[in-house]
Amino acid sequence: MKVLVINAGSSSLKYQLIDMDTRGVMAKGQCERIGISGSRLKQTGKSELVVEQPMKNHADAIKLVLSALTDPEHGVIADMSEISAVGHRVVHGGEYFSSAVIIDDEVKKAIEDCVDLAPLHNPANLIGIEACETAMPGVPMVAVFDTAFHQTMPPEAYLYAIPYELYEKYKIRKYGFHGTSHYYVSRRAAEILGKPVEDLKIVTMHLGNGASVTAIKDGKSIDTSMGFTPLAGVIMGTRSGLIDPAIIPFLMEKEHMTMQEVNDMLNKKSGVLGISGVSSDFRDVEKAAAEGNKRAQLAQDMFVYSVKRYIGLYASIMGGLDVVVFTAGVGENNAAMRVELVRGMEFMGIEIDEEKNKVRGEERVVSKDSSKVKLVVVPTNEELTIALETEKLLG
Ligand code: ADP
Repeated sequence: MKVLVINAGSSSLKYQLIDMDTRGVMAKGQCERIGISGSRLKQTGKSELVVEQPMKNHADAIKLVLSALTDPEHGVIADMSEISAVGHRVVHGGEYFSSAVIIDDEVKKAIEDCVDLAPLHNPANLIGIEACETAMPGVPMVAVFDTAFHQTMPPEAYLYAIPYELYEKYKIRKYGFHGTSHYYVSRRAAEILGKPVEDLKIVTMHLGNGASVTAIKDGKSIDTSMGFTPLAGVIMGTRSGLIDPAIIPFLMEKEHMTMQEVNDMLNKKSGVLGISGVSSDFRDVEKAAAEGNKRAQLAQDMFVYSVKRYIGLYASIMGGLDVVVFTAGVGENNAAMRVELVRGMEFMGIEIDEEKNKVRGEERVVSKDSSKVKLVVVPTNEELTIALETEKLLG
């Protein structure tokens, strides 16, 4: 069985064709600048293919993806009919979805109902779904939601202490994101340790440009750092993470900022970029800090501080801790950051092995043998998870 995984953004569309027999990626690529000038598709797999051709919408992009996959020279399949199913990443499933589902009209309506909760992402995801339905009639499609894994959180974790009527009226609550990644890396870590995931108390750290930390007990998400939106929780590349909400009206008054301007500032000009003044990318910030840039060092220290405290917080909520998992760009690749994140936590039974920790982008247990809490690096694989969920649902 071959599954096409689609991740549609507002002006981009990423895809992977996965062979479920080998779990291998046959081809992957990206359409960029959809609907604007300079559209292009880039695919790797058998050999690199770049197509620079106007794509006025996502329907054009999907057609180009299918012709790239079946290209006589660079393609990896002879015919579109070899694609058995399509798995779509959908950002927000609200309270409707706690697992992946086969897409029908009712599912599309529910995704539409969640547009208010993810105004940038859900419309693009829906357009991607509809473009595939048109280009590939009769091929079953599955939606896999970033929020679904976190639907097991209890109300005391997901409610905000604002008037309860606002939860009832607008569904204002914590949803959490990166669910597919937290799900995948927790299962892989359990497999690597040879233990059932249900028997472990796990903290998963997805540390990329966007970053979130999740507490997983009995195999279920019981709390996570992102909230109503992906702005909440830890400090990120350009996002503030947790701040006192009173800062917002204060700034609107003092700086004569509009709601939109404050929102932009918190999402795009804050975090590691806002503090360092250098970059949102940790590699640049690390370099600047090593060259003596004090604010770059401060940004790194603040990031560590904001992430590290979740280990203690979630250990207290779970009543213990067995495993910490590191994933995504920073978690997988930045060994020095992993050391800082668990520094001084021997009192909790956390001992990192600095030799084993010298690893980039591969699965490995990086704690000392004597460490009560196991530290595991697991490269995330959201696309494979989406393909596996798709296969599972379609039998
Ligand atoms: P996104 O949330 O955009 O998917 P990523 O998971 O790719 O983000 O993470 C991006 C971050 O990971 C950047 O800050 C970057 O510095 C860091 N990163 C990515 N690759 C490496 C690497 N090889 N070494 C060190 N840091 C890396």
